[in-house]
Amino acid sequence: MSPRLVLATHNAHKVGELRAILAPGLPGLTESDVVGAGDVGAPEPVEDGVTFAENALIKARALAAFTGLPAVADDSGLAVDVLGGAPGIFSARWSGRHGDDAANLALLLAQLADVRPEHRGARFVCAAALVTPDGVEHVEHGSLIGVLATAPRGEHGFGYDPVLVPTNETRTCAELTPEEKNAISHRGQAFRALAPAIARVLSAG
Ligand code: IMP
Repeated sequence: MSPRLVLATHNAHKVGELRAILAPGLPGLTESDVVGAGDVGAPEPVEDGVTFAENALIKARALAAFTGLPAVADDSGLAVDVLGGAPGIFSARWSGRHGDDAANLALLLAQLADVRPEHRGARFVCAAALVTPDGVEHVEHGSLIGVLATAPRGEHGFGYDPVLVPTNETRTCAELTPEEKNAISHRGQAFRALAPAIARVLSAG
């Protein structure tokens, strides 16, 4: 069967995770209906937007144009209160090396070394975008609010997960199971909010 929806990620693990998040809101959708950008050989566009929503739209527009299918993309990052929302869209390359999670985390902790616990508020933010080849565009946001620990804890997750302790939790995101994190995460919220728009587009197609 040919795919009906394409997700803007080259990471097979993330395709599976997004399928699981979207499945309850899209009951008719089978596994073979959803593919990742890597499965269809799509190139990665330059993400030169200045907001999460712009970057998610850039990725979804490029993928919809390349595949002729409805495309879904997300962009996310960490926004720290005392840093005025930074690292924000620069989260993946805060230390100067794109995707170096350990260096990014070490730099952030050093920058906040003197910041007292009551001022260590931060949130993960995600924008999720749906774009169809005929130009329908829809964006939803999600956020996971918490405080930053002073040292990394936990083995799960990626990026800044070892330092964000969600509100009403004592564990960091890296100490939550993937299922526990999906249930409350910025990405989970944004994609669950996008599911009705995806369902409308798929039922119209
Ligand atoms: P992207 O949306 O995959 O490009 O993520 C951008 C960057 O934001 C990642 O490299 C991480 O540094 C950070 N980030 C986004 N979401 C999360 C999360 O759920 N946990 C930890 N770090 C995250």
